Amino acid sequence: MAQSASLLSRIVASSISATVLAGKMIRDVMSHGGLNIVEKGKNDLQTEADRCAQRCIIASLSRQFPNITIIGEEESSDCDVPSDWVVTEADQEVLKLKLPADLENIDPKDVCVWVDPLDGTSEYTQGLVEHVTVLVGVAIGQKAVGGIIHQPYYKDTESGMLGRTLWGINGVGFGGFTPITPPPGKRIVTTTRSHSDSNVQAAISALQPDEVLRVGGAGYKVVLLLEGKAHAYVFASKGCKRWDTCAPEAILCAAGGTLTDFYGEHYPYHAETTYANSRGVLATAPSEIHQWYLDHIPQKVKQQLEQ
Ligand code: AMP
Ligand code: MG
Ligand code: MG
Repeated sequence: MAQSASLLSRIVASSISATVLAGKMIRDVMSHGGLNIVEKGKNDLQTEADRCAQRCIIASLSRQFPNITIIGEEESSDCDVPSDWVVTEADQEVLKLKLPADLENIDPKDVCVWVDPLDGTSEYTQGLVEHVTVLVGVAIGQKAVGGIIHQPYYKDTESGMLGRTLWGINGVGFGGFTPITPPPGKRIVTTTRSHSDSNVQAAISALQPDEVLRVGGAGYKVVLLLEGKAHAYVFASKGCKRWDTCAPEAILCAAGGTLTDFYGEHYPYHAETTYANSRGVLATAPSEIHQWYLDHIPQKVKQQLEQ
């Protein structure tokens, strides 16, 4: 690996490679059966694929970057990880990026990496595999700066190959996808398909959408914003966590979009922060006026998130 590349570029480049292997593991667990589902809480599942993918990503990153903080969704130990689960490759395009001065020399102590090894577990267990993503978000201080969204089941129409990796570094660039503007003159809202409640519904109704796309995972919903399939991702619930939104927020911002809570505030992503995105998640495509959505959310919906 080019040691001359900056720490941020090296973390993002290595994360890209780690998510590709994690994605293969997710496909392998599904094709071999034996999901070994554990119920972590109400409406909150973990499978063998979540566990393996997390061990792969955390072992790969912690060995290369021992001085940064890495927080994963699943409880796991990176001891005794098989050597072929430890990725040492890195994306060459990202290693070559020229970063602005403020991102060039960051202190490893200021870096917190948020790992969601399998986002959309409910959908994965139900066979809705296209909703599944692997998420690695890189925060510097409080800010989500770098993000990787890997889609293990994305099928390239020409080659038929499975897997696609989208990445972005806020203020620097993005890759792995071409942003598409959602249809003008329409409002398509995407939201949860497995964690809905009356407050989630009230927020959506207030926006008077032409269409509502109920899909799994924070990663996949932000992919829909980037692909021009939806204008906004609206989730007026406390259930989402920092590992769900760090990577999507960084990529969306890099492409010109916005992700905040229901008060328009960015969540902080430093290592000492709380995990719950308790003031909801509102994300808008690059073409949208984020403030319009904030202004149209009823006060009652916002107050519900405060309780
Ligand atoms: P969804 O849009 O329902 O797929 O949720 C996006 C992410 O937030 C997924 O990783 C979910 O597991 C998580 N999430 C949302 N609501 C809850 C909840 N009530 N309990 C646990 N996890 C949740
Ligand atoms: Mg998740
Ligand atoms: Mg997960």
